[in-house]
Amino acid sequence: MLQAFRVAGIPIRVDASWLLVFGLISWSLASGYFPRVMPDASVGAAWLHGIVAAALLFASVLLHELSHALVAIEHGVPVAGIRLHVFGGVSEMVAEPPTPQAEALIAGVGPLTSFVIAAVCYGMGRLVAGNPWMVALTGYLAAVNFIIALFNLVPGFPLDGGRLLRAMLWSWSGHFGWATRWATRAGSTFALVLVALGVLRAVGGELVGGLWFVLIGLFLHQAARSSLALAQIREQLEPLRAEDVMTPVPSTTDGSQPLAEAAADGEQVSGDEALLSPGAADAVAPQASAWEAFLKLGVSRRGRVPVVDERSVVGVITQRDIQRVVGVERRRADVARRAA
Ligand SMILES: [Zn+2]
Repeated sequence: MLQAFRVAGIPIRVDASWLLVFGLISWSLASGYFPRVMPDASVGAAWLHGIVAAALLFASVLLHELSHALVAIEHGVPVAGIRLHVFGGVSEMVAEPPTPQAEALIAGVGPLTSFVIAAVCYGMGRLVAGNPWMVALTGYLAAVNFIIALFNLVPGFPLDGGRLLRAMLWSWSGHFGWATRWATRAGSTFALVLVALGVLRAVGGELVGGLWFVLIGLFLHQAARSSLALAQIREQLEPLRAEDVMTPVPSTTDGSQPLAEAAADGEQVSGDEALLSPGAADAVAPQASAWEAFLKLGVSRRGRVPVVDERSVVGVITQRDIQRVVGVERRRADVARRAA
């Protein structure tokens, strides 16, 4: 994982896998598309345009994700960063949207951005009709952005269309968990259809294209399943408070414990443990929801979240504490279902 740069304060991370895709796209454009539309071009010129086109495609995907992230922040949903990976990109939102309307806006702006980029590229292509290279370049970008917009509008979670579907179901029923279950089911179904189409294409002789469909299908299927699991954990943790799930830190005689000692917890205190103070970004208050603690645990480098009142650390929450609670809740739900 490469930490590349920041845009509008949002960290942009690029998976190493993206470099491979960048190379593949440049190569396929330089050896296929550009020589076909410009038969008398040199190899060097074709490569140069292949790389420029791949870089502009990269920028298009980034703009799509940035639009999600900026609208999310505008609606009070923190964004940890944008990750660009082999299948495109993802805006890592730290919380779910507060309302169905916010979810619809955050999801909808991505495909809208891609449609706008496609339209602008198409328009530019008409303006530069005298320059065959520019026509080829803008034509390519208009087409891929149009496809990105359409693909993302498929109503299967976690695609943007699936988020729009969830927003509609959520608004209609008032139940976030129920809406998530149906939107992720639609996502899993679409993913399996993609895998089946990929197998058919591969059998029909389009091996690379078919394999690509299978890989995207498997990726989406996995993403839909983990989105569902996360939504279920959220349903279980949201009603609980941090102090309900934490492992209490043994306190000293005066009822409080100095922060550094609590942080040490039997381990060496390193320099960055100084971060551990009340109000530190990675700590939670005892009355905070257990879901908030779980989200902070996800980005914690230490693998635990301190629970801090005004003066001292009163407990810590680790993955084990969360698993204990989620496991108990799940067993309770199973018993209830069997009894029903
Ligand atoms: Zn999107």
